[in-house]
Formats: sequence, structure tokens, C-alpha cells
Amino acid sequence: MTRLREAGRTAEADIVETGVLMAEDPGLIGRVESLVLESGLPAEAALAGAAEEIAMELANLADPTLALRADDVRSLGRRAAAHARGGVAAAAGGVLVARTLGPADVAELSATGVALAGGGVTAHAAIVARSLGIPMVVGLGPDVLDVVDGEEVVLDGDSGLLVLSPDAARVAAARADEASRDTARTAAREHRLLPAETRDGHRIVVLGNAASVAEVIEAGHQGAEGVGLLRTELGFLEARAWPLRGEHLAFLKPILERLINQIATVRLLDFGGDKTPPFLKGAEGRGIELLLESPEALRTQLEAIVAAGADTQLRILIPMVTSPEQVRAVHEMIEGVLDGRPVPLVGSMIETPEAAQRAREIAEVSDFLSIGTNDLTQLVLGLDREHSKSAPVTDVRVLRLIDETAQAARAAGIAVDVCGEAASDRVAMPILVGLGVDELSVAAARVGEVRKWIRDLDYAACRDAAEGLTRPGRSRSS
Ligand code: PEP
Ligand code: MG
Repeated sequence: MTRLREAGRTAEADIVETGVLMAEDPGLIGRVESLVLESGLPAEAALAGAAEEIAMELANLADPTLALRADDVRSLGRRAAAHARGGVAAAAGGVLVARTLGPADVAELSATGVALAGGGVTAHAAIVARSLGIPMVVGLGPDVLDVVDGEEVVLDGDSGLLVLSPDAARVAAARADEASRDTARTAAREHRLLPAETRDGHRIVVLGNAASVAEVIEAGHQGAEGVGLLRTELGFLEARAWPLRGEHLAFLKPILERLINQIATVRLLDFGGDKTPPFLKGAEGRGIELLLESPEALRTQLEAIVAAGADTQLRILIPMVTSPEQVRAVHEMIEGVLDGRPVPLVGSMIETPEAAQRAREIAEVSDFLSIGTNDLTQLVLGLDREHSKSAPVTDVRVLRLIDETAQAARAAGIAVDVCGEAASDRVAMPILVGLGVDELSVAAARVGEVRKWIRDLDYAACRDAAEGLTRPGRSRSS
């Protein structure tokens, strides 16, 4: 704390100080003691359980600022439990080696890189890491767990490697890569006002993906025109029940306050898969399907979104849509919660083969479409999102569905964006542009790079390449 204050990092010092005060709270200590002495829980479970009890009480308070503290208390409980387990966090500046990590763990990391024995490239832990600009290599196999604490390693995110006992030349090359990434990041910030327009004058809207205030700020610094995907569920991965209005507001307000008059695309809770909170363990379905089974939970989130986003160019995005009826149901519910506020745009995520096949019907009832290439690719190709080392969006079976979706949007006169990781993939992005995607929403840390790539593209060439891949033999220039 003292070191942070001396370094002028008062905000961080305040955060640490608040954490210390919370940890010393006699109420919390009393509960831990009683869970150990009276209920016989081991220390680890008692610490997490006592923190959760207090978090729930805070979350139920009407005051959003206090409700916000609920997650801080949970995080404190988690870290204390990890210490009780004897777990050691990677030193700041080091590479964390682990079997797997969840998205919430990544959000709290102080390590500068992560090497995982398991994990998948588009699993949510990897997405959070990318957003925060933390290099992560996945799928290295169990042998990686034999790395000794303190051993020198080089983490090569581009090649997906963890190099053990690197020689001096390898270390020097890694340092040079790191320096050039820093230079690119500085350039991205400096060029934030240059338009994201191809050499032949085709403009693409570039937005940021986010789940935290830090990402919204970084995306803005790199020239994002707003947020194209706010993953609200990442704020509630440890929830014990559907979030209450106060909890939604506590998550949304600090983010949406930074997006006044800008595009703010808030996605409804996309629980399920690797984003399943404890209270939904075992539940079938994902995204909007789960929400429509709990209409009060959906209404509560919609109320909070329209209230917190009143001063933004608000767009509400529906995850895992499979039918136009689901979109109509959300529209109807929104009308009931508006209370005189402007009607937000309502978009549908196209991220399952069924949705892509019904894209025309879904487009007719939507204000925009957003293609989730992460899920779409895995589902079309039958891969396991949490463990797959690659996500080949350029497979013709996936590209054809993206093409059909873009055509459906054009026919309905609405915009289509891509918010999956393919939007910031050097190879896939020009093809997406060529298929007629209007907007790209990418990890906050990648916004500037993608905007620069667009300035180097030729739209006519992108269209030819896309047509050649999806409709071979019918290329415009052939
Ligand atoms: C996707 O599936 O591409 C997407 C953007 O949603 P998420 O990664 O959160 O599942
Ligand atoms: Mg998805």
C-alpha cells in the first residue's frame, strides 16, 4: 500500500486499503469462526462461505455503490480460500502455469502471461486474457505442470509455445517482441482518430468487446466507436441466484457512464457452457433460452439496462437466438420496462447453425445481427470450445453460414457485425469484410491493430477473396 502511494498510484492503493479493511471486518471474522467451530467446515470452505453470505447481503441493498462491494467481498473470500489451500499466485510479472483457469480467475490475475495444460483458444478464460492484453497459451498438455517455480521461461503467444530453459538469443528475441508490441500499442493510441476505412474508401465500424470498465477505457484509447459486445454474464459467474436489479446496476453503471452518446451494445446474460454460475449447475440450454425460462430475471436485467444506458446509443443484444419468437418475446418485454425512455435497438446473435439457417426470419424481427463466430465455428465443426486448440472460422462450412447471415441482414436492411474472435484474426477479418460485414467488435486490446489492418485493405480484393472461398468458380474477377 505504502509502495503504491509512494509511486503515486493512489487509486490502486485505495483498492488495496479497502480490501484490508474488509478482511479485518469483525462481522466477517465472526462468521468464519462460527462456520469452522460450529458447522465444522474446513478453513477454505468457511472463508469462501462467510464471504458469500456477506456478499449476498450487500448485493440485496438498493444502493448500487454498496451492491458493487459484493463482488469485492467474494473476490476477497476466493483469494483467502486459495491461501488457506496453500495455493500460490504467480508473482506479478511472472508466467502463471496452471491446469485450467476460469474467466473470473483471469480477470484477477497479476501475472503477465499464462500457460495452461488444458483450455481452448476461444474458451472464455482466453477471451478475457486477450481483452486484457495478457498473453495466454493453451493446450500444452500435463507435462507443463512440471515447470519449477521460479524457472526462466519464454511464453510465445503467437506460436502457442512455452519455451523452457531458453538460451540468451531466445530471451532477447522475446524481449524485442514485447517491445514491438508496446510500440504498436502506443501507435494504436496515437492513430486513434484515423478512420477505419479501406484504401478504396469502404468504412467499417470498429467497436470493442468488454466486460469491465478497464476494457471500455482501453477500447476508447485505441479508437473504438463504442462497445459492440458487453458480456454481462462475466460479472456474475459466481452468482448464487439470478442477479437482482441493484447488482445489475452496480455492474452496468460504471461501464455505461463511460459510453455517453456512444454505441453501447449490452448483451443479455449468456449463461451456460463454460459460463455457468453455481445456481445454474446442471441446467440445460444457454443464453436466451435460459432467460425465457425465468422471465422475471430477464425483466429485471432489461429494466436495469434501459435505466443505466439511457444516455448511450443503447443496443440490446440477445445471445444464442434460435428463433424469431425469442426475439419477439424480448421486444415485448422491453416495451413493458421502458417507462417513457427511448426504444433501444434490439439485435440477435447468430451463433448456432440453426440461427444461421433461419437468419432471414430472425433478421426480419431484429434491428441488427451480430455473428458469434466462436460458438458458430465450434458448433458447425463439432469442436469442443473449452479444449480446442484452434477455431478455423475460414472453413468453407462456417463461411457459407456467415455469408447467408450477411445476405439476410442486407435483405432486411439492417447492419450485421461480427463480435467473435475471428473479427480480430489477421486472416479471417478481411474475408468477413469481403462478405459484407458492417461492423467488427474485437477485444479491447486489439481495436487499434484491427483499425490499422482495415486501412491497409482493399475492399474489392476482400470481396473477390470472400466470393472465391464461398462460391468457388464465381469470382467477380474471373
Ligand atoms: C461468440 O460466440 O462468438 C461470442 C461472441 O459470444 P461468446 O464468446 O461470449 O460466447
Ligand atoms: Mg457465443
